[in-house]
Amino acid sequence: MSNAIEKVDCLIIGSGPAGYTAAIYAARAALKPVMYTGMQPGGQLTITTEVENYPGYPKGIQGPEMMEDFKAQAERFGTDIRFGYASKVDFSGTIHKVWIDETTEVHANTVIIATGASAKWLGLHSEERLNGFGVSACAVCDGFFFKGQDVAIVGAGDTAAEEATYLAKLCKKVYMIVRRGEMRASKAMRQRVLNTPNIEVLFDSETKEILGEKSVDGALIYNNKTKQERKLDVTGFFVAIGHQPNTAIFKDWLEMDESGYIKTIPGTSKTKIKGVFAVGDAQDKVYRQAVTAAGSGCMGALDAERYLAEAGIH
Ligand code: NDP
Repeated sequence: MSNAIEKVDCLIIGSGPAGYTAAIYAARAALKPVMYTGMQPGGQLTITTEVENYPGYPKGIQGPEMMEDFKAQAERFGTDIRFGYASKVDFSGTIHKVWIDETTEVHANTVIIATGASAKWLGLHSEERLNGFGVSACAVCDGFFFKGQDVAIVGAGDTAAEEATYLAKLCKKVYMIVRRGEMRASKAMRQRVLNTPNIEVLFDSETKEILGEKSVDGALIYNNKTKQERKLDVTGFFVAIGHQPNTAIFKDWLEMDESGYIKTIPGTSKTKIKGVFAVGDAQDKVYRQAVTAAGSGCMGALDAERYLAEAGIH
């Protein structure tokens, strides 16, 4: 297959708050940024409901709508936004090579990695088989399909707690499957869950199997304390057990921690490779907020701009 080669000064991979903010800054600095959105344009916020903690939206805003605003602002200053997936990179030279959809080869003076993070799964065969047929990692996207029905959700963090209360508004009954004797979620979220009458929290419980031929019609849950198995009659099964950074294609080139988060020089977005910057959730396992991602996207663009100036490229 012959590849089209394109040369750019600033390539941004990913289109969440980090990527769009990098794009706004890079475009205003006349770096003519090219952004490839990845498979989920807008990133994780496109699968959330209400965002109440992003400054500037005093009444809150829907996640997808906020990302449309980010996009419009990046486009306003001339960011070239394209749908495409970075599948391979070669950071061995001063020109950084990135392959998009295995057909386009981009040669970039600077690369800003804003690939974010993705939902984790339990790893059950039945979970994979029934994915999209009752199994989902996004209550906000798919909860509607289970209106008035009984559903289960696995996880005990803030995401699971938030999604359980969201589902409780739509569904008849929500079982929340928690693997330990307590929830990791913040106290306020825990209280909200425990005070919601149609949520039943199953502590010390793990999912043995998700049941159903063509679509979910139940789940087998095992209680580690009582050693009892229980069948839940649910038609929806939601997984909310955290995220992993989307950094696999960079692992041969960049330093990462044991979970795959890219290491940057503290206080900067610089990786160990000159001209390659990492921003947002791809390098942040601590804060993981839209606003911190946006802030680090800004850092990425400023660092890229400075690098291009110092290298005499721009
Ligand atoms: P977390 O990593 O905080 O929680 C993951 C949860 O999933 C944990 O309770 C964990 O259990 C459980 N879990 C992990 N693997 C399994 C498994 N194989 N089987 C069963 N359970 C499993 O992820 P979240 O997505 O909930 O949150 C990520 C970050 O985002 C957190 O910092 C959170 O505070 C923040 N957040 C904030 C919100 C807000 O402020 N409004 C909303 C949503 C998220 P265990 O506890 O036993 O490890």
